[in-house]
Amino acid sequence: MIVCQVSDVTVVQQIKATHNEQPTFFVYDKYPGGIGLSEKVYDLWEDLLTRTLEHVAGCACESGCPSCIGTQDTFEQAKKK
Ligand SMILES: [Zn+2]
Repeated sequence: MIVCQVSDVTVVQQIKATHNEQPTFFVYDKYPGGIGLSEKVYDLWEDLLTRTLEHVAGCACESGCPSCIGTQDTFEQAKKK
């Protein structure tokens, strides 16, 4: 468990990152030098992905909604079965 505010961590996603040409998430603390939050995310990554998949799959919507995938509108049909 990580106790923080949403504003404490930034997540940037790239469909094709320049360094590995793979879909990539960059997670980093918003504080200079970091305060260890993103490091904890790394440690909990598999559990986080499992819980995220369960949350999105369990949502009653068909293609992704603010409740399951957030408010981004760049990923139409983001939730595919
Ligand atoms: Zn949804």
